Amino acid sequence: MLQIKNISKKYQTGDLIQTALDGVSLNLRDNEFVAILGPSGSGKTTLLNIIGGLDRYDSGDLIINAISTKKYKDRDWDSYRNHTIGFVFQSYNLIPHQSILSNVELALTISGISRKERKNRAKKALEEVGLGEQIHKKPNQMSGGQMQRVAIARALVNNPDILLADEPTGALDTETSVQVMELLKEVAKNRLVVMVTHNPELAEEYATRTVRLRDGRVVDDTDPYEVEADSLKEAEHKNMGKASMSFMTSLSLSFNNLKTKKGRTILTAFAGSIGIIGIALILSLSTGVNQYIEDIQKSTMASYPITIEERTFDLSTVIAETPGPGFTEEEADHALDGVYVNGSDLEQASKVQTNYNENNLTEFKKYLDQKDSEIHEYVGENGIIYSYNTNFSIFTRDSEDALVNTDGSTLEDKEESTGRPGGGMFGGNLMGGSTGNFTELLPGVNGEGISTAITDTYDVVAGAWPKEFNEMVLALDKNSEISATKLYEIGVLPTSEYKEIMEKMDNGEVVTIENRKLDYEEIMNQPFYLLPAVDTFVKEENGQYRQQTTADELENLLENAVEMKVSGIIRLKKDAEYAFVSGVFGYTQALTDYLIDYTNGSEIVKEQEASKEINVLTGVSFAPADDEAKIEDAKTYLATLGVTEKANLFRTIMASGQGSTPGGGNGMPGTGAPGQSGEMGEVELAAMFDSYLQDPEDETILAIYESYISPGSYEENMEKFGVVSLDAPSAINIYADSFDAKDKISEAIEHYNGTVAEENKIVYTDYVAILMSSVTTIINVITYVLIAFVAVSLVVSSIMIGIITYISVLERTKEIGILRAIGASKKNISQVFNAETFIIGIITGFIGVGVTLLLLIPGNAVIHAMTGLDTVNAVLPPVSGMVLIVLSILLTVLGGLLPAKKAAKQDPVVALRTE
Ligand code: ADP
Ligand code: MG
Repeated sequence: MLQIKNISKKYQTGDLIQTALDGVSLNLRDNEFVAILGPSGSGKTTLLNIIGGLDRYDSGDLIINAISTKKYKDRDWDSYRNHTIGFVFQSYNLIPHQSILSNVELALTISGISRKERKNRAKKALEEVGLGEQIHKKPNQMSGGQMQRVAIARALVNNPDILLADEPTGALDTETSVQVMELLKEVAKNRLVVMVTHNPELAEEYATRTVRLRDGRVVDDTDPYEVEADSLKEAEHKNMGKASMSFMTSLSLSFNNLKTKKGRTILTAFAGSIGIIGIALILSLSTGVNQYIEDIQKSTMASYPITIEERTFDLSTVIAETPGPGFTEEEADHALDGVYVNGSDLEQASKVQTNYNENNLTEFKKYLDQKDSEIHEYVGENGIIYSYNTNFSIFTRDSEDALVNTDGSTLEDKEESTGRPGGGMFGGNLMGGSTGNFTELLPGVNGEGISTAITDTYDVVAGAWPKEFNEMVLALDKNSEISATKLYEIGVLPTSEYKEIMEKMDNGEVVTIENRKLDYEEIMNQPFYLLPAVDTFVKEENGQYRQQTTADELENLLENAVEMKVSGIIRLKKDAEYAFVSGVFGYTQALTDYLIDYTNGSEIVKEQEASKEINVLTGVSFAPADDEAKIEDAKTYLATLGVTEKANLFRTIMASGQGSTPGGGNGMPGTGAPGQSGEMGEVELAAMFDSYLQDPEDETILAIYESYISPGSYEENMEKFGVVSLDAPSAINIYADSFDAKDKISEAIEHYNGTVAEENKIVYTDYVAILMSSVTTIINVITYVLIAFVAVSLVVSSIMIGIITYISVLERTKEIGILRAIGASKKNISQVFNAETFIIGIITGFIGVGVTLLLLIPGNAVIHAMTGLDTVNAVLPPVSGMVLIVLSILLTVLGGLLPAKKAAKQDPVVALRTE
């Protein structure tokens, strides 16, 4: 039983207050067919909507089975509509994008009934209205009468107690009207049917009771129903079953909806995806650029490690303080009215003096050797490389079998051409570490022989990378070339040819060098000989060591020398940014290690180590106490000289022009013009020297000592022998992988400096910082700009999606009304829209990522063409791609949240009135 008690309802539009119902009271039986008649605007629809729980009354009460609805909450109304009420409208209100079956199922769907039962019940309901055969049609494929029957089936599928029909035949012709009325009459057999109609005849014929309304009041009732007792119960929540929809249902509902407007959906998703594409492109680009920058940083840091040398010159202070040339008074800092003294040259020179710094690398190495030192956190892939002043020469024989010192000294050796044996064979470089034509290859991490920084930069064009200590590679430039001078220096081209060229140049001829191709094989088969400095010293009978310098001695030495093999030929890659092998040959750290071990194990080194006071080369003490001791030393020294040495020394003394008074000059040997001594034989010279020193005065001996006998020092000797202590590197290279890490390493060194004594502080020049300071700023600016772009794209795309969802809400207003009428709650409605935006979000994401991937193909081609760099590759990292899809879903749902909420808030009555 349904009791309508004194219900009033007013609508306010602007200032106009419209009374739709004005104290209507009506009791309806559980089972009757009530027709409500009345002119247009008399409040019929309003009454029906209030009975159906679609609209709310202002005053009065609606009592359902003796329960007041005054305290009904939204969900009570939803449940009431879903389970108790079936609505039939004049305009059918079927959801156009759903099949007939789905339309009927919808009410059951909202009730949360299982799929199978839903289908069965919907089919049965459709069969009952005579449409069992057409369940897969869409509403627009049916006639008006058929559609109204579908609407009736939908209203009945939940087996409601009450069926409300608002002018169900209003849009139908007489014949179909009759069919519908027959159907309703049938339906009314076991429930309450309330039908609004314009047609008194139909009411007369089918209804069991007719109620007439006018101006919101009941003016006539053919069969009033009086209820005596006011036995009203308080409103209490009565669970009539759930009226809820699962998210999957919302999804399928929205999915079907979207399917009916594929084109529009794709366009929508595409519009939304523009933001995602923007983000993805920027992300790809910045990933590519970052990767590139990282690579650059890595390769830069591989080529420019932090280098700390034993003796450094702080270049940065000089650079920073160099004043510019003063052109104006302002810049000159004084008026231009006289002669001013510019002292910057001297100041500069003094700075150069004072900015030299000795670094205690032995102490610093101890710090580096501690595994837990702060610095190790930032050291890069290539680690820390220690350089040692190894001292060696490499000889070879050119194609004409002439002996060549590969340091280039053979070419400069003028004496050689005159056929005179001289001291030039070892050149200048023997006494100062490895030669410029040889580069130690950066060792790799974890004991790998050669760093990947090098192996990645070169192509091996013949042979292989060195594996043994006595192997080396020949490095070609990008064009497979080596300069002619270098090739002459290393004896690949014959020395005699070089000398001819020099002669021609001396004669003022223009020289052309023919373009020649040398076979890899030939070079790889050329023998090279390793001569450690220590090997050139030989012990004389008198117990002192002497350096062997003659060609014969050299030949002898080389007979027993270790042979160096050219194991391979490498060529700098086209895109390489830095040539690691600055020399012609690259050897491995194994050679350095070998030389250190070999030298330390030699006799001369052991002997010198055993007697730290006496110079094993001269027999004189390193630090004579007084002149007496010096004279003693000089006598001992002169006594041990052989014929050749005596002759050489005498020749030197004569040449310096101090022959008669050797002690009087400043001791500049070899600068004077060669005298007659030049034509004399060694033996005569030695004899002359002996007679000269027959009975020498102490003064003369002391003068000879001061000018020609250097006591030397222990350290000097060790250096000559090429002794290297592993604890005392000559330079330390610390490699970082990025500028950041490099800065951190600098900080760590600062911290180290803070903990050690003044003399152990480390000073070095950060060349990368000087070179790169502007580059890092640019990189930072680019990064910020990209971030800003991404942020803007994000905002734009969410706004776009929000607008699109809002339009969709406007479009589906009617559907919202229908859903509400059949019992969907506000939550269900927002859920449907969220489901729709969710689907659009997925599509948007995939379109965005897909289009981006497609765009990257020509994009990268353009980048490559524009920058000329193959190494800048915009790529979308897979994780970012997935994150973007998720982000797209999130943004779309977020953008649709407000419109969905608005949709949920829509008044179902208003929504249904919308066309
Ligand atoms: P009927 O169905 O009998 O034609 P209605 O119940 O639709 O009449 O309307 C009753 C009165 O209430 C009419 O005057 C109508 O203009 C007014 N009315 C109905 N709904 C609204 C509304 N949402 N806003 C303003 N006025 C309304
Ligand atoms: Mg109406």
